[in-house]
Amino acid sequence: MKKYNILAFAFCLIAAGSHAQRSAADVVPTSMGPLTIQPVMHASLVLSLKSFVIYADPSGGAAKFKGLPAPDMILITDIHGDHFDSSTLAAIKTEKTILVVPQVVADKLTAFDKSKLVILKNGDHVTQSDVSITAVPMYNLPESPTAKHTKGRGNGYILGIGGKNIYLSGDTQGIPEMRALKNIDIAFVCMNLPYTMDVNEAADAVLAFQPKIVYPYHYRGQDIHQFQKLVDAGNKGIDVRLREWYPANL
Ligand code: ZN
Repeated sequence: MKKYNILAFAFCLIAAGSHAQRSAADVVPTSMGPLTIQPVMHASLVLSLKSFVIYADPSGGAAKFKGLPAPDMILITDIHGDHFDSSTLAAIKTEKTILVVPQVVADKLTAFDKSKLVILKNGDHVTQSDVSITAVPMYNLPESPTAKHTKGRGNGYILGIGGKNIYLSGDTQGIPEMRALKNIDIAFVCMNLPYTMDVNEAADAVLAFQPKIVYPYHYRGQDIHQFQKLVDAGNKGIDVRLREWYPANL
């Protein structure tokens, strides 16, 4: 009888494991080959092109990234724990991993190899390993020194990879700089209150800059179906991709 209990327990573990799945990856063609987009959790995602792997805002523990290829580059947008998590970073980075960060994050990475740090402020642009990276503003409105996200502290990013422009909003509202973006192929746009914006503001901003594809991310507690409805109503040409960014058991 005891043996069967152990078997049953083992089966439960396997079954639980099989449900701990992240959203399936999407593949978008680029001039350099297929770009794989892997939603992980909340603001964390992984982009892969050929053998080059970029993580954005990895947090929440190394187990969330289990089975994914190791990062060549990690982008971090801001200091909050759902974006910058030093213990997750330490666990997933390799000796070759380059970190692209705002100064405020660099200030917290005192033990990190400085030669692997790329520090960008809003408006800065660099090219690293065939990836062009532009840091763009992310902040709350109205601007205030006590806002959760003050202008100039964190970075959103625009990546140029294989002829595609990929926008990562970071934590922001529908700021004029977002609304004025041009030629964005793939956008990751945050939405949650009180830290960023609601779905109405997010949809309105997306309709202003008209990315070809948009992923709502960082949306805990928000109605992303309503976001999709609003974007569809304004422009059916924008491909709104709803994915699972909060897998229960991951
Ligand atoms: Zn956040």
